[in-house]
Amino acid sequence: MSVIYEKVALIGLGLIASSMCHAMRRSGLARQISGYAKSAATRDIAREIGLCDKVCDSAAEAVSDADLVVLCVPVGAMSAVAAEIGPVLKPGCTVSDVGSVKRTVIEAVSPHLPENVNFIPAHPLAGTEHSGPRSGFAELFDNRFCILVPIEDTDRDAVEQLEKLWRGMGAEVDEMEADHHDLVLAVTSHTPHLIAYTMVGVADDLRRVTDSEVIKYSAAGFRDFTRIAASDPVMWRDVFLSNKDATLEILGRFTEELFALQRAIRQGDGDHLHEYFTRTRSIRRSIIEAGQDTDAPDFGRTKSRED
Ligand code: NAP
Repeated sequence: MSVIYEKVALIGLGLIASSMCHAMRRSGLARQISGYAKSAATRDIAREIGLCDKVCDSAAEAVSDADLVVLCVPVGAMSAVAAEIGPVLKPGCTVSDVGSVKRTVIEAVSPHLPENVNFIPAHPLAGTEHSGPRSGFAELFDNRFCILVPIEDTDRDAVEQLEKLWRGMGAEVDEMEADHHDLVLAVTSHTPHLIAYTMVGVADDLRRVTDSEVIKYSAAGFRDFTRIAASDPVMWRDVFLSNKDATLEILGRFTEELFALQRAIRQGDGDHLHEYFTRTRSIRRSIIEAGQDTDAPDFGRTKSRED
């Protein structure tokens, strides 16, 4: 594949940025990649493992002359980073991000960007529970969706160029409006994470089951919750703080359904339970048919990915 951007700057050098580095290098999509992360410790690791062509000591230095700048920091840090780089961006460049929530990021970043750059928010639906510059791998985005959220009047050529980059990194690309993205992700990712955090928290509180029993007998479901609940606390704190309305709406629905199931169990209403579980089973089948998971019996236990 040929070069899509001459110079790419990645701000934040964690799981997503490091995976982007590997994926861009795999197919030669950028001639030069520069990077910056907040702490000297992370920058040192990035230099040691040769993650980017150049690791800089400031965000402003990293973005200088870049044709594409991607903000790969937690959602709560987007505004400060945009304020720092806004004045030094190359005219005509594209600024994007990979944040898990889109409306808040647009509101946080847009005011700091000059009019002569193209801001194209994005969200790759791929991840693992690991973080940091060593956690990335080139295949992370393969066959996963990246959702672009172009704002009004965005230059179509710039959008198509960014789409090409994500396809080159292995992803399929869709476009969506910001609020709809946040609602969809509240259903498919954010609320399930909260439920996993809660379930693991509950098990932690259950003193009638010893800690060693929880760990020893966790194969039947609980182990998958623990993997999700091991995700980065800063990232997920920011996701819930910034996707508040959609998450609360879905949580409200979840609580109602949970109460209905609780009642069915109490009343011995087997028909209700059977009907419910039949419906959920068919949702699982359609995810497999859409190629977004495999039917392997060990699902979740090999190199697992979630968004
Ligand atoms: P990560 O592995 O924890 O890395 C975050 C990086 O951001 C670190 O290098 C950190 O630097 C840097 N950072 C934090 N604040 C900064 C600041 N003010 N200035 C410069 N760098 C800063 O996180 P990640 O999993 O790659 O997530 C990054 C973004 O991708 C988040 O917005 C998240 O919502 C989104 N996302 C994550 C996933 C996932 O599953 N992990 C999936 C899709 C999208 P230090 O190490 O120096 O602190």
